[in-house]
Amino acid sequence: MAEILVTGGAGFIGSHLVEALLRRGDSVIVVDDLSTGSIRNLDGCRSDPKLRVHIGSICDMPLMAELIDRAGVICHLAAAVGVRLIVEKPVHTIETNIRGTEIVLELAARKNKPILITSSSEVYGKSANVPFSEDDDLLLGSTTRPRWAYACSKAIDEFLALAYYRERKLPVVIVRLFNTVGPRQTGQYGMVIPRFVRQALTGQPVSVYGDGRQTRAFAYVGDVVGALMSLMSEPRAAGQVFNVGNDEEITIIDLARLVIHKTASASKVEFIPFEQAYDENFEDLARRVPDLSKLRALISYTPRLHVGDVIDRVIEHERHEGI
Ligand code: UDP
Repeated sequence: MAEILVTGGAGFIGSHLVEALLRRGDSVIVVDDLSTGSIRNLDGCRSDPKLRVHIGSICDMPLMAELIDRAGVICHLAAAVGVRLIVEKPVHTIETNIRGTEIVLELAARKNKPILITSSSEVYGKSANVPFSEDDDLLLGSTTRPRWAYACSKAIDEFLALAYYRERKLPVVIVRLFNTVGPRQTGQYGMVIPRFVRQALTGQPVSVYGDGRQTRAFAYVGDVVGALMSLMSEPRAAGQVFNVGNDEEITIIDLARLVIHKTASASKVEFIPFEQAYDENFEDLARRVPDLSKLRALISYTPRLHVGDVIDRVIEHERHEGI
């Protein structure tokens, strides 16, 4: 079987995908610049003879041309991610997400290689029309608020991917990933569950931003990876956009309480205003929940893990890491 190229394969979601592909018996090529990913994420599979890892950038055209030439299928996960990173490094975010995807798509189109592009639920912006469906209007904030640069960069990626599908018949699938969690996700770039778990395990206050009444729906990375693999092998998915995530909503304050309970921690909740957590231009979203009906109409998809189970796995991972 031809090799599967995973860009961002040393990242949190990428490394789980790589492990699952290897378990299925596929040969995998990883390209990752280790900017937010880590080679340690691949510790569990580094010695697999079916895995090849290239440390490099998706913006390196000669490298990407060579790797895409060898690949049978491409799964494009490499991106600047995490609300904190986006706010702190807006130039890097826009450049990586737009230029990188442009290069990957252009090279894939030259060789007509099927490709799955990962976009983000951020593209829905601050729409209050919950749950979000793939054909809904997008409601983005002002350009003076850096958060929306990420949403825009991902929306451009989607436009470009769909344009390649229409104009060049490139088989491309677009996935909008919702909040995805599990072992190996780092809290360094703002993601809430690894941050809460670390805070609770080390006895620090659990930092709830705003009043904590905002909601999210958290999907287990293993469930998400399963959906990506099914979509990659489903020809009817080509030219379409799919939400992938979990649709069980929880408020952030309840999440904080659940983490404190599950870690049996003495930590207290600390409320931090958004402008202090990020900057005065920051806008958070009140609710974010995917409508999964389009995905379920095409592939069989039932998330196996509820948020409490995912928290258990993250706690186990962090304890194993010596926290
Ligand atoms: N959040 C929080 N404390 C933290 C980190 C995040 O209360 O230490 C909140 C954040 O404001 C948001 C939610 O948790 O409402 C999810 O944040 P995350 O950055 O994980 O994902 P996103 O905002 O992209 O959905």
